[in-house]
Amino acid sequence: MDSGINIGRVFNIQFRVHYSWVFIFALITVFLVWQVFPYAVPGETRSTHWIMSIVTSLLFFLSILVHETAHSLIGRANGIPVRSITLYLFGGAAQMDREPASPGAEIKMAIAGPLASFLLAALFWIVYDFYISQVLAIAAVALWLAQINLIVAVFNLLPGFPLDGGRVLRGIWWHVRDDYPGATRGAILFGRIVGVLVGVSGLYFVIVHRDWLAGIWLVLLGWYLESTARTSLKQFELQIWLKKHTVADVIRRDCPRISRDTSLKYLHDKYPDRHCFVIPEIGEITGIVWFEAKDATLPETTVADLVIPLDQTIAVETGDNLLEVVQRMNETGSDIAVAGGQSDPVGFVFLDDLVNLVNRHADNQGAGDAT
Ligand SMILES: [Zn+2]
Repeated sequence: MDSGINIGRVFNIQFRVHYSWVFIFALITVFLVWQVFPYAVPGETRSTHWIMSIVTSLLFFLSILVHETAHSLIGRANGIPVRSITLYLFGGAAQMDREPASPGAEIKMAIAGPLASFLLAALFWIVYDFYISQVLAIAAVALWLAQINLIVAVFNLLPGFPLDGGRVLRGIWWHVRDDYPGATRGAILFGRIVGVLVGVSGLYFVIVHRDWLAGIWLVLLGWYLESTARTSLKQFELQIWLKKHTVADVIRRDCPRISRDTSLKYLHDKYPDRHCFVIPEIGEITGIVWFEAKDATLPETTVADLVIPLDQTIAVETGDNLLEVVQRMNETGSDIAVAGGQSDPVGFVFLDDLVNLVNRHADNQGAGDAT
């Protein structure tokens, strides 16, 4: 998720570009220079074709940004916070903090992107129509952008998760059957089918039409869709599983009380298999330490260097489900939760424990699959 370049903040959303976009940008520019503009405006020089192509690629890139921003703004208006958007090889992916609250919110948010692309297509078409009898170069750029935005809108409406159309499908399914897990699994299955069909259509283009460029593009797109759908299913099943577990399953109630100036070396020798410690001051717990054996290798280090004040943790109850806890840890960036009130905690939840629990579950799943 982090393998991208920050390009700025708009509407309090962090925009990032995945490194693969540099490649895409170059590919589209070269494609336009060689395959599109020499035929659309043969009278222009090669350097004019280059300028047209670079401008067109930039405007295409901006179009995808508008599509993603539309999702985010409508999502936010419907109670789905979006913190960042990363532009990937085949478009964009909004980083959502939570799942939608209702089928209506899901459908509105999903439809906003393709709607924005349709509007952009119309806008570029108007520009094309205006300039066709005046400046052919501008008209050619506008026509290509109108077409590509139309393709983006229609392609994203294909009914398979994680495409926008798949989200719409999930929203409708969820609304009609009142079964969110069933709707998600169904929309993901459709996503895998759509992925395979797109890939097969790519092979058709290569074998029958000898159109290598379109063919390979579609095969890559199909493969990407199918594998993303499969990953989404794994993540979703994990969420369901986390939802069934509560804080009580991972809580640590036995963290020894230690003073601030205790050295890590001493802790390691005295409590070889403990990880969590609390720091009481004037009868109240003020901080927590999560301590790994490797930290003890620095002889001068004391507890004070690792202590995390209680107000930087999140407050939970023992009955809260773990999905809720993980989401809140994600949102706040905190990896410790305190159960039972910060003035008189009954125990603590650590991100490391959650990760271990999930890994053990994944190992069991793997063993189960093999038999
Ligand atoms: Zn979209």
